[in-house]
Amino acid sequence: MTQKESRGCCDVLIRNCRIVDGTAAPWYRGDVAVKDGYIIKTGKIDPESFSAAKTVDACDCYLAPGFIDIHSHSDTTLLKYRLAESRVLQGVTTEIGGNCGMSSAPVSPESDKKADLEAYMGEMPYNWNSLGEFLDRIEEAAPSVNFGTAVGHGTLRIAAMGFDNRKPAVDEMNVMKDLLRRSLRDGAFAMTTGLIYPPGCYAKTDELIELSKILPEYGALYMTHMREEGAHVVDSVREAIEICRQSGASLEISHHKVTYKPGWGKSCRTTLTMIEEARREGLDVTADQYPYRASSTTMDSNIPQWAFEGGMEALFDRLKDPETRAKLREESNAGHIGRWGDIYVGYVLSEKNMWTVGKSIEEIAKTRGVDPADACFDLVLEERGNVDEINFGMCEEDIEYIMKSPYVMTGSDGKSVSFDYPGRPHPRYFGTFPRVISHYCRDRGLFTLETAIHKMTGMPAAKLGIEDRGLIKEGMRADLVLFDFDKITDTPDFARPKQPCEGIKQVYVNGVLTAENGKHTGAAAGMVLRKGR
Ligand SMILES: [Zn+2]
Repeated sequence: MTQKESRGCCDVLIRNCRIVDGTAAPWYRGDVAVKDGYIIKTGKIDPESFSAAKTVDACDCYLAPGFIDIHSHSDTTLLKYRLAESRVLQGVTTEIGGNCGMSSAPVSPESDKKADLEAYMGEMPYNWNSLGEFLDRIEEAAPSVNFGTAVGHGTLRIAAMGFDNRKPAVDEMNVMKDLLRRSLRDGAFAMTTGLIYPPGCYAKTDELIELSKILPEYGALYMTHMREEGAHVVDSVREAIEICRQSGASLEISHHKVTYKPGWGKSCRTTLTMIEEARREGLDVTADQYPYRASSTTMDSNIPQWAFEGGMEALFDRLKDPETRAKLREESNAGHIGRWGDIYVGYVLSEKNMWTVGKSIEEIAKTRGVDPADACFDLVLEERGNVDEINFGMCEEDIEYIMKSPYVMTGSDGKSVSFDYPGRPHPRYFGTFPRVISHYCRDRGLFTLETAIHKMTGMPAAKLGIEDRGLIKEGMRADLVLFDFDKITDTPDFARPKQPCEGIKQVYVNGVLTAENGKHTGAAAGMVLRKGR
């Protein structure tokens, strides 16, 4: 054998790293060799024994697996923002969309159901029907991140029965089951629910158990935005665990939080104990969380659920009818005593209401000289539902208590977007993962760096059953993040949310350098992930 043949070769050799491998094991100093998108060697690599097309000196910075975002809504944005700046610039290399009951597929070919789905999910081309076809479209778009999706229960329910507020008939249940099975065969990682949103909120527990019984055959999860995250959060966790127990599906509680002031400091102690007890019983229960005091959703979530029956047009008609509006105003205000001032506009579609972005409902109501509930309803009407809110409803003590649990991982609840995305989105879009590392791990000292990285890599990979990502190990896909632990900062905040994070030196997706020092390289090496393929 000649000397040349005995030398290994690779595309990239990253030398002098502190390797945090994603398992939560202590970091170790070493090198990583990448070839054809895979990690081919880790540990101490003699540069003489390896010919590398490119060698990177990590200068003793940390190298972690690319972050896996188990909770994203990028299925609605990735076709438009394929470079996914908000994700790769914070180190996210893989994300799972279709959360909170809302997935972009399957789409019913019936035109009224298709219109209902469009009202539910927002504007998209919808040049697909099945979940598999939707994933094909993403693949053709060539995104910069790896993308997989869940199938939303709300989407299934719309395809079967629109926005009807009732129990499904036997044949409608069969439509949902068939579509669920097909979507799981097409590679969905989970079925998700959004039990605060119509039409998901119209489903009773037994409907969810019956559907969830299908999930274990496909190794898919039940992921839930629970029925209530405020005064009744404990009951909501109880329902989610019951669905898990009765169906045998693995449960992921999405964006766990408590949004009810009198429950602060208490409710999450109960819910975390319930999760622990369920696990002791043998139920595979975990949760995820984003690291901010404010949540973000559609502004119409402040309107009582009964007003959505029959779909968005029916809602608009009810908001226009003075008598119905008076009733909605009364109910809505009752739930928001002293809270309208905590709810800010994050996004509007129209130019004319752009002035409301960044202002609270209370301020907008004062400017317009109307009741706060009316200010909220008018915006929903004028924007035809295309208005998002940022809602400050949580406390730091709870965020830290939940985050410290070994059963809680990181999930952004954000989307793949670019810097030109309109409005003022929640900073979680661009900053979630560096915020956990910099603020909660480094500055607040809640846990070790190894634990922080595990919560965003090895843990979600294991939960989702992604076997070739989430760890730095020979044979794994080369999704990697190189960062400076002293400098990493979640620069995006509520005032200026669209910014790259600081301290992230390099991000590789499938072995391709995709971000460097806060700049996107233009690379688009993301892959579509299909469960079971
Ligand atoms: Zn949600």
